[in-house]
Parts: sequence; structure tokens; C-alpha cells
Amino acid sequence: MSAGVSTQQRRREMAAAAAAATSGAGRCRPSKIGASRRPPPARVRVAVRLRPFVDATVGASDTPCVRGMDSCSLEIANWRNHQETLKYQFDAFYGERSTQQDIYAGSVQPILRHLLEGQNASVLAYGPTGAGKTHTMLGSPEQPGVIPRALMDLLQLTREEGAEGRPWALSVTMSYLEIYQEKVLDLLDSTSGDLVIREDCRGNILIPGLTQKPITSFADFERHFLPASRNRTVGATRLNQRSSRSHAVLLVKVDQRERLAPFRQREGKLYLIDLAGSEDNRRTGNKGLRLKESGAINASLFVLGKVVDALNQGLPRVPYRDSKLTRLLQDSLGGSAHSILIANIAPERHFYLDTVSALNFAARTKEVINRPFTNESLQPHVLGPVKLSQKELLGPPEAKRARGPEEEEIGSLEPMAASASASQKLSPLQKLSSMDPAMLERLLSLDRLLASQGSQGAPLLSTPKRERMVLMKTVEEKDLEIERLKMKQKELEAKVLAQKAEDSKEKENHCPTILRPLLHRTVTVAKPLKKAVVMPLQLIQEQAASPNAEIHILKNKGRKRKLESLDAPEPEEKAEDCWELQISPELLAHGRQKILDLLNEGSARDLRSLQRIGPKKAQLIVGWRELHGRFSQVEDLERVEGITGKQMESFLKANILGLAAGQRCGPS
Ligand code: ADP
Ligand code: MG
Repeated sequence: MSAGVSTQQRRREMAAAAAAATSGAGRCRPSKIGASRRPPPARVRVAVRLRPFVDATVGASDTPCVRGMDSCSLEIANWRNHQETLKYQFDAFYGERSTQQDIYAGSVQPILRHLLEGQNASVLAYGPTGAGKTHTMLGSPEQPGVIPRALMDLLQLTREEGAEGRPWALSVTMSYLEIYQEKVLDLLDSTSGDLVIREDCRGNILIPGLTQKPITSFADFERHFLPASRNRTVGATRLNQRSSRSHAVLLVKVDQRERLAPFRQREGKLYLIDLAGSEDNRRTGNKGLRLKESGAINASLFVLGKVVDALNQGLPRVPYRDSKLTRLLQDSLGGSAHSILIANIAPERHFYLDTVSALNFAARTKEVINRPFTNESLQPHVLGPVKLSQKELLGPPEAKRARGPEEEEIGSLEPMAASASASQKLSPLQKLSSMDPAMLERLLSLDRLLASQGSQGAPLLSTPKRERMVLMKTVEEKDLEIERLKMKQKELEAKVLAQKAEDSKEKENHCPTILRPLLHRTVTVAKPLKKAVVMPLQLIQEQAASPNAEIHILKNKGRKRKLESLDAPEPEEKAEDCWELQISPELLAHGRQKILDLLNEGSARDLRSLQRIGPKKAQLIVGWRELHGRFSQVEDLERVEGITGKQMESFLKANILGLAAGQRCGPS
């Protein structure tokens, strides 16, 4: 088998199909799409393909009983009333002249991209035996069908997307099975018996023990697929020389592993299904084993019809388990896949009843809604033992070297059962995959840092699950706290700036001549805390404005304050205890009186407005007052327990000037 289509041409087609799918330009607008939040709904799309007359089956004189009306609709004679026709509308209608490429590009190619998003997709060929299902799915070397075209494109896509330097490493595997008389048989392993179909905790359908072959090229695919196809159970009936007596299912899995943190993994499954014929047993002339086969085929197709009806009617029980076929299709019909049903019909009159029944089934299927979601989790080694996570921490090229090629392959080759158990093991940690990648990255770098410093502790990402979650939560909370503090700081800065602007405006209005010399020393008022020191200085300057006075400014120098004259070329240092001498007696007395008033009348809260008085001292002062009565002088403060003479000194220095200045220059 050869696809016979150039890669270049195929790439162009893929791009065009993807563009059409993104822009929503399909062949036809879907007639009914439900509205939901998550995951978004995707209606099962239905295309009908009418094959041309086939020489071997009918004479050229026969007229078709079906007629296409446009690219979406067709009509067929009404057998109850010959004057009338029955009209059907689908997502696409492909007439006798349509090519394999038309069907592939129009209906199949657009859904392939979902596989790389970690979503499932399925293509089902339905219809009576001889209507062209196998031709559509498999085709011939001259006219390759959906299967070879899809495989070629998918392999090409995964090669491009998984190339070195891209964020994800991709691998593709294939499985091939048939459902024959309600038995699931592995076509890649002729010795296997009936396999069981299981469902994992997330509703994914699995077949433990089913062979999975890794494929990296189309030649790989053919190497496995062609001999397996020969294994298929085929028999001769009157309707078709090579009528398939079983449902053939090709399963292609695309595994993706993120190369960098947060090391997610995704899995997309593609089912390509060539269903057995939906013909009426009475016309096949089947007897014995053939009749039994037809019975089994029709029974599973009958259940398929019931499943579709139950989904359409929203019944609480959908009979997926009533047949192997429907159980296998559980996550494709009404499940998690992007699905397309291609109903194949034949133009010959003797197919009429089967055609009508196939069209009715297709019309019902059109109403089924799926909810595809991304099948994503964290790679097991990220959550597993330290060794592996350390390897991955090295970064992609080093990690690959450390891991070795076989290991990567083993990961992608693990049997379904193993992958099922792995996903079950991971399921409680699914929340990690939704975590902010930046945070995970930070934890990883912390790990790296600890390792480089020779830390003996267990790396963060290999601590037990709960501990890890707590750590991550703490980091998140700390981040939020930092954000909050940053915001607050910004607010305060803005306030200070606004206050500064207001103050300077006010000062200009009230004491324009005095402020002028201070403008050269704006550095002293840059921070809000220093403002308290500057206020009394303004007062000093005001005092100094009188011709006989000296102008002084308090300036911070280390922990000591120096008094320097603005006029003097060199700042003149004075003894710290002489500060009172620099202030006019009137101002000093005024400040002392204000402090005394506060000490006698003020509440603990008022007292806290004084410099050097915290909540504890304020309480002590109030307590002393209650016990001993009023303070007669400011120095009485020394009698309060816990206030020393030295503290008293600095208290007076800090408060007298401030209070006096507030009286003179503050807004009255
Ligand atoms: P089914 O799988 O539904 O039983 P097949 O695919 O085997 O039917 O088709 C029956 C016959 O009709 C085959 O000989 C096939 O080559 C031919 N055929 C089907 N569809 C087409 C088509 N679109 N163009 C040309 N020949 C077709
Ligand atoms: Mg067939």
C-alpha cells in the first residue's frame, strides 16, 4: 500500500484544513450545537458518501435512487409515495464523482489537529456491505483512503511538532483489532484470544494486553498494518466479494511529553473504524455460520442505534455495555472524542432499503453531542523518585542524555494496562497540572539550588505528596503577601508624594521667605519620618528671621544630631545636652506646658502621639496618673516606673520642639 500523495502537497492541504477549521469555515454550519461551559461540546459530525455504480454489481442501465442536492443535502425516492422524495441534510455530502482526497480533506483532516492537543478523535465508516466503507477507509494503492492519508499526515505532524527544540517530545503507537462475533481480537498478535475492554477512572476506554507498536514513519505503519489486514476475518457473500464480517478498529495513539517544567504529558487517541455491513440479513442469502456472523454484526449495530437514541433522548442509561462495539466506542459517541461518521451509500435500486436505513441512522447520529477534553497529567518521573526528577532538572539535552533513548521509548511503549495504572496513580495529583508553571519552575530551581549547596534534605519535588502540596500552597501565599505589600508600599509612596506637594504649597503660602533657604536642603525632607524633625526647624528659622537671631538646623549624623549654622562655612558642633539653650525660653515653656497638659489630660491613645511613647509607656503614664494624681511638672515623668532619666531627656528633646512648632506653624 502506498499513499501516493506528495508530502509537500499534503502539508499545504493540512494547513488549509486547519485554517478552515479555525475560521469556522466548514462545508456546512452545524444545525445544533449545545451551549456549555467546560468542556465545550462538539457535535458528532456526519458526512454521507454516495459511491458510483460499480460495474461488477449492476448494469449501466440502472438509474440511481439517490440524488445529491448540494454539498450538504441529498434526496431519495420515498418508497411509500413515489411522487415524493425524502430529503436529508448532513454536515457534508460527497457525490459519486467525489475523490478520496475530497472526503479526507473535507471531513477527516480538520480533526487530526485535536490529537496534538491531547484530545481524542474517531472516524467511523458506516453503511451496508458493498456501499464503499472499506474503499473510503482503506482505499487502494491508486486511491488511498482515509487511513493511509491520516497516518501520513499525523506522522509528518508529529515529526515537526516533536522536533528537537520544540516544547514537546512526541511519539506515535498503533494498535489494530477487530470485533468478530462479539470477540475482541488483536490483529497485531494472531495468537491472542478475546481481550477485555475496561474503563479507567477518567472514563477512558482501555484494552489491557492489546499490542501497541511504535511507529515513526509510514513505512513502519505499513510493516505492521499490511500483514495484520490479511489476518482479518473475511468471507464471501452474494453482496460483496470481500465483505468484511467484522468491525475493524485501527487505534493510533499520540503521546506528548513536555520537555521543560512543568513536564506535562498528553495523550490523544485516534480511532479509525471500518464497521461491518449494516445490511439486512434476508438479502444476503446467509445460512449457518454466515447467518450467525450477520446476526452478531447486526446485533452490535442494533445496539449502536440504541446508544445513539439514548444519547439523543438524554436517557439516564446508555446501553454501551450491551455490545463490544458500543463499549469500545463509549468515549467516542457521547464521550470525549471529536467524531465523524461517514455513512456510505450505494446508488443501486436493490440497496434502496439499506440506504434509507443508513441515512436514518446517520440523521440520528448527527444529533449526538460529545464533550472532548484534553487528556493531560504530569509525567510520572516529576512526581516519582528523586533520581528521575534530578535527571529532568538538567534541562532537555542533558536530560535526554541522562535518560537515554531506550527509556524514552519504553515510556511510549508501555502497555495500556501500565499506562492505566500510572494514570490512576497520578489521578490524586491532577491538581498539580493546573498549577502555575512559573511556580513549579521556581520549586525546581530551589531544588537545584539545594542540590548545588550540597543539601542533605529531600528535594522539594520528591517530598511526600501532602508536604509538597503544603509547600506549594505556602509559596503561593507568600507570593500573594509580597504582592499585597508591594501595593501598599506604592500607595504609601503616592500618599507621601501628594502630602509633600501639599506641604510645600502650603509653606509657600504661609512662610514664603523662610522656606527659600530650605529648598537647597530638600534632602532632609525626602522621607516622611524626617518631616517631624524638619517642622521644628522651620520654626527655628522663623525665629531666626528676626535680625538678632541665629538660624539653626538639626541634622542627622549617624545616631547623634548636630546643630549647624546655615550661615557658618563649617558646621559648628555643640554638646548634645546644650540643645535647650538654642531654643527661646518662651518656646521652651510653651512646649513644656503642652506636654504637661497631655500628660494630665490625654488618654493613652493621645499619649501615644508623643514621640518615644509607645502603647506600654502610655499605659504606665495613665496608671501613674490614676494612682498619684496630676503631674505638676514634666520632669515628674521620671517617677513613672520604667522611664529613666536618660529617656526623659530624649523624650523632652523630641517633643518640646514638635509641640511648640505645631502650635505656631501648624494649621490652626
Ligand atoms: P464495503 O466495505 O462497504 O463492503 P467496499 O469498500 O468493499 O464496500 O466497496 C465495494 C466495491 O465498490 C469495491 O469493489 C470498491 O472498490 C467499490 N467502490 C466503493 N466505493 C467506491 C468509490 N467511491 N469509487 C469507486 N469504487 C468504489
Ligand atoms: Mg468492507
